[in-house]
Amino acid sequence: QSFEKFKLNKQLLEAVSEAGYEKPTPIQEKAIPLILAGNDVLGIAQTGTGKTAAYVLPLLMKAKYAQGNHPRALILAPTRELVMQIEEAIIFLGKNTDLRYVCLYGGVGPKTQIEKLQEGVDIVVATPGRFMDLYKKGEIFVRNIKTMVMDEADKMMDMGFMPQIRAILEVIPVKRQNLLFSATFSGRVEKISEEFLEFPEKVEV
Ligand code: AMP
Repeated sequence: QSFEKFKLNKQLLEAVSEAGYEKPTPIQEKAIPLILAGNDVLGIAQTGTGKTAAYVLPLLMKAKYAQGNHPRALILAPTRELVMQIEEAIIFLGKNTDLRYVCLYGGVGPKTQIEKLQEGVDIVVATPGRFMDLYKKGEIFVRNIKTMVMDEADKMMDMGFMPQIRAILEVIPVKRQNLLFSATFSGRVEKISEEFLEFPEKVEV
């Protein structure tokens, strides 16, 4: 019942133990092996269950092996607050890696975000609106994106982000891994998971 059984590297296992995580939470137990194996995953889990680390750890593991200055993973979240919470998880779980990330959200000027993109990043964490703005300005090279995460998908639907999300999914590569997390499971969530995910494994806690 420890993190050691997952195919994570030493840098990540050390960060997990320094974070004080003794054993995986139920969502981590179920989702981490499926994500590492390359499946599309539909995760039904609320905030507080450890769902962020459930996808951030496998993402950090996968991103390590690829190279280049263009993002290979995209995490979409409904609000700036959630983007910043995801950033915290990337900072403390990724602290022994040399992975680079950028957070993109509105309400602030794009200059710093654009500079970071130009320096090179492995992971982009973004709200859908700001992501699409910067994409349209030619600031995000999307063709290397191999994993797409939608966090709090139900909230993104409530907030009316579906048109932007559809637009994003049309410009990123078709061949990719999709992870969709939602606090609730409803007809709506089922429908978008049918639209966006390929033979997903559903994990519920
Ligand atoms: P989340 O559900 O992703 O918002 O995470 C809720 C909180 O649980 C965060 O503060 C995490 O740092 C913490 N956490 C995540 N995984 C574990 C774990 N395996 N053991 C203890 N705490 C954890």
